[in-house]
Amino acid sequence: MIPDNQVMAIFGFDMETDIGSWTPFYEGLERGTPRLLELLAEQEASATFYFTGHAAETHPDVVTMVDAASHEVGCHSLYHETVGDELFPIPGIAPLLVEEVPLRLQRATEAVTAALGRCVVSFRAPRLFGSTAMINALESLGYTTDASYPLYYYRERLTPYHPSRTDWTAEGDSPILEIPNFADLSMQSADPFGRDRDQWPKYRTEGAESLLAAIDRFIALTCNRALPAVLCFYLHPWEFVEMPSGPIHYGEGSVLPDPFIVAGCGEHALHQLEAVLRGLRERGVLYCTASSLAAQWNVRTRGLAVDTQSSSRDDRPCRAKAAGEVE
Ligand SMILES: [Zn+2]
Repeated sequence: MIPDNQVMAIFGFDMETDIGSWTPFYEGLERGTPRLLELLAEQEASATFYFTGHAAETHPDVVTMVDAASHEVGCHSLYHETVGDELFPIPGIAPLLVEEVPLRLQRATEAVTAALGRCVVSFRAPRLFGSTAMINALESLGYTTDASYPLYYYRERLTPYHPSRTDWTAEGDSPILEIPNFADLSMQSADPFGRDRDQWPKYRTEGAESLLAAIDRFIALTCNRALPAVLCFYLHPWEFVEMPSGPIHYGEGSVLPDPFIVAGCGEHALHQLEAVLRGLRERGVLYCTASSLAAQWNVRTRGLAVDTQSSSRDDRPCRAKAAGEVE
């Protein structure tokens, strides 16, 4: 049983094409993943790796590699499409229609499940664009955790919570544990969407010490409110491989991501992440996967016995697979 004042950290790596939806390449998945696994092993940290269905389908060996290293494998949509409410527009990507969401998540889940050989129970929405329709679809697919809530934007839920089935940003009865993504709420935002409060990618653009200072302020904030401190981070394997800083050409044109998106990728990012992990360990923070947090959380807040069946090591038939067979 984990004590109430234990600070927990969930590291989530979103396994997608390089630079999010900006390219169709998988350099990060192929070359960044082994570097990450090595670092996590050195630091004795467990993490959750959220694969898009397409990444899992095209790179089942990477899914196997992550699983063999005893990390959790989760799902991150099918193609990195916008499955939830669009908080700000992304070039070339229109959000799914609400009625398209369940089928798209089912297909994504089937692809990751097929590569893993077991159920997936943890999800994260691309760009943290979640929604009520998404949460309800995840529930029907048998998920137990979602790590999409962008704290920088909504700024309400400081700790994990069970969402309402009519408003995913409010507390309710959903069995899914929603895990808010860390943000620095102590600062005044200069961005219309509050994106500068977000943790990503400050560890490599501002450095590990800057992120650790924000973490200390957040721990103090939760402590003052007598809330458990759970630090959830999202990162990507492509950040640990050098990314081009100029225009990237493919298909029928070129894209030029904003400079901060690719700044400091490669060795620098790896060293800064190592410093963050070391700093957290010095602070006595405990690493866990999303599903193991949910199991512990339900014991802590609902008096439930640890549900080992809810972990990704589950051997029961998956609801996603069963739903597919009905067709
Ligand atoms: Zn992503």
